[in-house]
Amino acid sequence: MILPIVRYGNPVLRQKGAEVRDITDAIRQLASDMLETMREAHGIGLAAQQVGHAIQLTVLDVRGSEHPSQLLIGARETPVESVMPMILVNPSITRHEGHVTGGEGCLSFPGISGEVPRASTVHVRATQLDGSPLNLTATGLLARCLQHELDHLNGVLFTDRMTPEILAPLEEEIRALEKETRVQLKKGGRKPRSR
Ligand code: ZN
Repeated sequence: MILPIVRYGNPVLRQKGAEVRDITDAIRQLASDMLETMREAHGIGLAAQQVGHAIQLTVLDVRGSEHPSQLLIGARETPVESVMPMILVNPSITRHEGHVTGGEGCLSFPGISGEVPRASTVHVRATQLDGSPLNLTATGLLARCLQHELDHLNGVLFTDRMTPEILAPLEEEIRALEKETRVQLKKGGRKPRSR
């Protein structure tokens, strides 16, 4: 099922996600709906907050992008395509390395994009949907996408990471989006949390 994507201005985007204690049928269904929603929106990542659930669950799929990614699972070099789409439960970044600035957008900020400084390599520990642990090291687009989505799970947004110079010309548009979202919430037009 395609879910409505929460936009900036909805307070759920600022909530830290609760740990997922049990991978229930409801969690598996939500992950499946999130994948469907992400694909339909042509996104490469989607966090549970973006569909109104403040829990530690995110989905990613970087296939089809012209920007390359490199991946190690444990210590083994692994083709990125072979693990996509990724569904990560309770993920955390255990180590950051290097710095790189690159363009980002966000499905919760339609039409808004800008340069965001990030680590160039991240080590991530997570649980997979079958309950098995996953330790990976990512570089390139996947590293950027993981940092963006794991930030969402902690209530942090890509605009928080922009430098003041990058953010300044976007501020008016961001404020307008926030206002529009608040008006819609007041009207009760978008209630993705009531699901
Ligand atoms: Zn986002």
